[in-house]
Amino acid sequence: MKNNPKPWLYGSDWQGKRCEARTRRGTLCQRPGNKINGRCKLHGGRSTGPKTEDGLARIIASKTTHGRFIKAEREKVKRRAEVGRIVMREVKGIEQWAVDPGYLSKNWRDQFK
Ligand SMILES: [Zn+2]
Repeated sequence: MKNNPKPWLYGSDWQGKRCEARTRRGTLCQRPGNKINGRCKLHGGRSTGPKTEDGLARIIASKTTHGRFIKAEREKVKRRAEVGRIVMREVKGIEQWAVDPGYLSKNWRDQFK
C-alpha cells in the first residue's frame, strides 16, 4: 500500500455515519456515508438529484445544448411544418387555377431550370 503523508479527513476517530454496505470480502465498507441514506458514494449514496424546481431548472439549463429535443421546441417545429404544408397546398391550388384555363403551361417550371 502507498503511504499517504496527508492525514485522512475521515480518520478512525471520525464520528459521522459510516457506510454499512457489505463488500466483496464480506466486511463492512465503512467509508463515510451520505447523511440521507447512510451509504457511501460507491454504494448508492451519491447525490439523488435536485429537489426544488429552481435546482431542477438549473440542471436543465446546464445540460441543454441547443434545445431541439425539448418538448415545446418539437411542438413548434411540428406547427411550422403544418403551416408549410397548408401554404404548399394553397400554392398548388393557385397553380392549378392558372394551369387549367391555360394561363400557364403545365410544365411552366421547366423554363427556370
Ligand atoms: Zn460503501
